[in-house]
Amino acid sequence: MKKFNSWSRRDFLRAGTIGAGALAFGNSLSAFRPAANKKLGIALVGLGYYSYGQLAPALQHTKNCYLAGVVTGHPAKAAAWKKQYNLADKNIYNYENFDQVKDNPDIDIIYVVLPVSMHKEFTIRAARAGKHVICEKPMALNAKECEEMITACKKADRLLSIGYRLHFEPHNLEVMRLGQQHIYGKVTSIDTGNGFNFQGNTDSWRLKKAMSGGGALMDMGIYSIQGSRYTLGQEPVAVKARQEKTRPDFFREVDETIFWELEFPSGFIATGKSSYNNNWGYLHVEAERGKFGLEPAYGYGEIEGYTSAGPMNLPQVIHQALQMDDFAECVRHNRQSRVPGEEGLKDMKIVDAIYRSLDSGENVAII
Ligand code: NAD
Repeated sequence: MKKFNSWSRRDFLRAGTIGAGALAFGNSLSAFRPAANKKLGIALVGLGYYSYGQLAPALQHTKNCYLAGVVTGHPAKAAAWKKQYNLADKNIYNYENFDQVKDNPDIDIIYVVLPVSMHKEFTIRAARAGKHVICEKPMALNAKECEEMITACKKADRLLSIGYRLHFEPHNLEVMRLGQQHIYGKVTSIDTGNGFNFQGNTDSWRLKKAMSGGGALMDMGIYSIQGSRYTLGQEPVAVKARQEKTRPDFFREVDETIFWELEFPSGFIATGKSSYNNNWGYLHVEAERGKFGLEPAYGYGEIEGYTSAGPMNLPQVIHQALQMDDFAECVRHNRQSRVPGEEGLKDMKIVDAIYRSLDSGENVAII
């Protein structure tokens, strides 16, 4: 299958946030379940790079859900999206009137695609409005916020899922199988890195700690953390980290490159790293009787995988389409997502611990 979207994330960041101009081209809840054959309506909250470049196009390929509405602070963007995706006026909200979505039966699922500092608020507002929620990664600014989001969704009896698209991607799924089922014996080494050379404008929310919660670790490192966890199928107990900054004036508030060692209960150590200065995207695994890995591992272009027996030769898929279709099925059957809020929380506990380790210079427990 051809590459779904040839624009890389880096290209988009260079171009800055997409404006309206760019768009021209380019009830009671467990009891009520949508009919099994009804396509569920998704509303995207925040119409920036990821919504425009990936999620909306992916929603043209979904079979269980469709793009029913949007939530945006920009009237011009609302008009452009309405035209491009044939959206009904009543399904277009802004951040102020968003809570009225509770009265809108067209919208079953709210997908939060905003700067990280806004994830908690909009997830909780969506759940209180009676909607199921997908929240983008990283789930929130810290683990405490994740806990509040999980509690609010439980209280509202709504499902919460995190936008971890790689749990639906064949090569990453194969790594989970090879690692967790010891197909080449026990895993003896994991090394993974994810990053890109950030050249975006200095106004980006990604560079403001209050909005992003941190730099490349939050944005890109979360994939490396995930990769280690799902290769082993275990949870780390401690971490030691160090960082480097080549452009301290640019990355004033947030981390540029971080290296870490994740310690698992057996004493096994997985090495990982994140960067806004290096084009990394790999997961290399060694096991007792062979090796396997991915490179590129985590992007939305082609993913390539190898094992000691040769290339993986698995299909390229539209990650986000499979991810959203699966969540729609979860909603239809009132079934927990394979990437629920608890999965985001586990990663944020590790992220919190990495930042604590940077502060202290010590090996710190993940709690
Ligand atoms: P972006 O900056 O391109 O878009 C953010 C959107 O939020 C914009 O539409 C902007 O108008 C809106 N917004 C509302 N209030 C804002 C404010 N106060 N400041 C800045 N923007 C504001 O960002 P993005 O790249 O689309 O990222 C959005 C989310 O999606 C982030 O959580 C990011 O980590 C996640 N993401 C996930 C993936 C993935 O592969 N799963 C890829 C890219 C981004």
